[in-house]
Amino acid sequence: MIEVKNLYKSFGSLTVLKGVDMAVNEKEVVVLLGASGSGKSTLLRCLNFLEMYDKGEVRINGQLIDPKKTDLNKFRTEVGMVFQHFNLFPHKTALENVIEAPIYVKKILPSQAKEEGYALLEKVGMKDKADVYPDMLSGGQKQRVAIARALAMKPKIMLFDEPTSALDPELVGEVLQVMKQLAKEGMTMVVVTHEMGFAREVADRAVFMDNGQILEQGEPAHFFSNPQQERTRQFLNSIL
Ligand code: ADP
Ligand code: MG
Repeated sequence: MIEVKNLYKSFGSLTVLKGVDMAVNEKEVVVLLGASGSGKSTLLRCLNFLEMYDKGEVRINGQLIDPKKTDLNKFRTEVGMVFQHFNLFPHKTALENVIEAPIYVKKILPSQAKEEGYALLEKVGMKDKADVYPDMLSGGQKQRVAIARALAMKPKIMLFDEPTSALDPELVGEVLQVMKQLAKEGMTMVVVTHEMGFAREVADRAVFMDNGQILEQGEPAHFFSNPQQERTRQFLNSIL
């Protein structure tokens, strides 16, 4: 579903991605771990073309993405993204947030978008808040609306960048629950998170990024209990 080869990305003189190789299979859930600044967000942003990489290859669903030739908007709809800080439109209700892109980007009829929007809000347990503005929602509720909004474009892949890091601890579970359900339904997912419970329970694979490269990866149970690299061990000790 995703294939990344020898990916490089610099910001000015700072090289952030230093030859990343990664593949994600259909329906696979990959948890991406690594210290702050190791390049996790940059990698996700390159997979969603919010950021253009300098060198290397990205294939989505088998198709090589050439930023100069490919219709990136088409691929952006295939790869949904959820951010740490929700990024909901503050002046739009929950439902309006969800139906905005289907109507304006996909040109779906408003009546149909609404119907699908309600169904998605129901899926994330937010149907009764459809007409509420983000200001009136808790962080966990906002994040669930943000997930519904990303799903509204019917993506084949969902990327999550620390979706629960900004939440009060008691609100983390409701968001992880929605993500767990998505994984169960067979969504292909890449999740940056330090929620080890989620990683152990839901992920098919844990990938550890260090200094712009993938240092180590493995099946979660094995990866967490028996990391091979000293850097991985240090990192896991620091977050557990
Ligand atoms: P992580 O998500 O693992 O914490 P990031 O991908 O956000 O890491 O950042 C990796 C490095 O790239 C950091 O040093 C960060 O400051 C830098 N960086 C990220 N985005 C930009 C940008 N738009 N401009 C300049 N530097 C950036
Ligand atoms: Mg980050």
